[in-house]
Amino acid sequence: MFGEILGKKVRYEELFPHEIEEIIRDKPVIYLPFGTLEWHGLHLALGNDAIKAYEICLRVAEKSGGVVAPATYWAIGGMPHPWTTRFDEVLISDLFFAIFEQMEHVGFKVAIALTGHYGLEQMYALKRSACDFMYRSSMLVAPLPEYEVACEKGYRGDHAAKWETSILWSLRPELVDVSKLGVNLEEPLEGVMGEDPRVYASVEIGRDIVNHIVDRLSELTHRMLNKTSPLDKLKFIRALNIQADVLAGIMNMGSEGYAILGGREYETFIQHLWMGRYDEAIKEGEGLILKLKTPK
Ligand SMILES: [Zn+2]
Repeated sequence: MFGEILGKKVRYEELFPHEIEEIIRDKPVIYLPFGTLEWHGLHLALGNDAIKAYEICLRVAEKSGGVVAPATYWAIGGMPHPWTTRFDEVLISDLFFAIFEQMEHVGFKVAIALTGHYGLEQMYALKRSACDFMYRSSMLVAPLPEYEVACEKGYRGDHAAKWETSILWSLRPELVDVSKLGVNLEEPLEGVMGEDPRVYASVEIGRDIVNHIVDRLSELTHRMLNKTSPLDKLKFIRALNIQADVLAGIMNMGSEGYAILGGREYETFIQHLWMGRYDEAIKEGEGLILKLKTPK
């Protein structure tokens, strides 16, 4: 049945030493779920982002091996609504870096850093920290929000709207209360950004996109662990750095920049990146940088 955790032990905090030793010998991959505590409409639990990332990581680890670390809920940025926590950028960038260091120290070779919270500041910090870390270490870090491996399905990230509602509904139905959305479609939804969940969200859409994300992250894990040469690693870091520059440029541009984030070129870039086509990603990314620098 979908959504059922099969009982394979993958949670770091629940493993015995001999169990983690065995997993690391077989598949030295750590999944690091990141999220936040943030208003997600009246109908989703406040921890949505981290819970979403954690549940996805559990499914990838069950399918492909590796260990899942406890989720990190402390993050940068967030909606200006009640119950939202926001931390300092330097503090959280240092935290990301320190987590990567510790994961390498205990013996992992690859980290999949999945952030369910994907405001630009959070994504920028996670990607830049991963680049800074990889320059001086041997562990590979793949930092990404879950939608970057699912944009061909039309998922480009939203906030408590069609996609996030569907995903949590499929993963943890008890943390979604659609009755709080009301039935009057004229009524605006506070702090919901994207397609109207009252019309478009469903458990089925959630299941479909989660299955897709899990499959793609399994492929990514396999490629990172078995098919990434030292030269690939350098190109990967270069492409990620370009992406961080693009995100910084978009932040500087304000609302106009969001059109670039939702545009075709950016989509092509992230598809190249996560399919391991680094030369193409670098080329596409450099095109995006030029676009950011060229005023209309
Ligand atoms: Zn969210």
